[in-house]
Amino acid sequence: MTVTILDGKLVAGEVKKQVARQAENLAKLGTKPFLATIQVGDDPASTSYLKAKHKAAEEVGIGSEHHHLAADTSQSKLEALLGQLNTNPKVHGILVQLPLPREFDEDAIIEKVIPYKDVDGLHPINAGRLSAGKETLVPCTPKGIVKLLSHYKVPIASQFVVIINRTTLVGRPLANLFLNRDATVTVCHSKTVNLAQTTRAADILVSAVGREDFQIKPEHVKSDATVIDVGLTRVEGKLRGDVDFDNVSPLARFITPVPGGVGPMTVACLLENTVEATKIQTRRGQKEPSNS
Ligand code: NAP
Repeated sequence: MTVTILDGKLVAGEVKKQVARQAENLAKLGTKPFLATIQVGDDPASTSYLKAKHKAAEEVGIGSEHHHLAADTSQSKLEALLGQLNTNPKVHGILVQLPLPREFDEDAIIEKVIPYKDVDGLHPINAGRLSAGKETLVPCTPKGIVKLLSHYKVPIASQFVVIINRTTLVGRPLANLFLNRDATVTVCHSKTVNLAQTTRAADILVSAVGREDFQIKPEHVKSDATVIDVGLTRVEGKLRGDVDFDNVSPLARFITPVPGGVGPMTVACLLENTVEATKIQTRRGQKEPSNS
């Protein structure tokens, strides 16, 4: 069987069209979805990700504003800004671009975002709901992966899924999304022994490591597997994924490219989460006029 490339750019375009329609409907009813982003410091990768997110928001009719704070901003100043955005009725989604500079208590910042504006889906309340099988605001990269698989009708139920990553941003929420869809899931990480032995059993293999010294080679992959490449690393100035695409793709049934795979889906799902957050707040507003 020949390999099918999972075209994230194409599917993200479809998701964005749906989001644009929903944003237009919400605006007609008097609420234009609105996203506020915060960057602390000047990490060039963060700057370029944020630029892409604002451009995408504008394309689908989501309003947005950016707050850029100096790297030496205090934790309390950042928390005060979050407090203002939490209570500002114009703002429906809040995104704090991670990673924050080392001096910050990142977990405390994540917990400061009010859960129904948490478009990154990282607040413990949203993460807890997801692990209890209730999907409200779900982290964008895992959500994008599942959407991409669904678009191409890649079966998930009863499949054996191996995820290489155990972070709250990728591996943990993704494991829960797959579990919620009746897959059998194994999560690997840097202390896993015999990684290839585990990954070779996977019907769906997701790799999200992003290290120059790490690569998924043919010996890691079962014939006809689905291979999802999330990891990003720069080698000699060039961006590459975790997967040795040229040598793995002839083995696979489905595979994502880098770039053009998971990346565009992540941005599209941020937009979808912003519209979802707007709907949640519109419903809350109807039930609770005091906005408490
Ligand atoms: P991270 O915090 O660096 O986590 C990396 C994960 O890989 C950890 O769970 C780590 O294990 C594991 N790992 C490291 N070395 C390993 C090894 N030799 N064998 C097996 N596992 C190993 O990164 P992250 O924030 O979760 O993101 C992961 C990657 O995905 C990064 O490259 C990031 O740039 C990329 N990413 C891409 C998108 C996109 O839209 N394309 C979105 C999000 C993230 P331990 O837990 O044991 O340390």
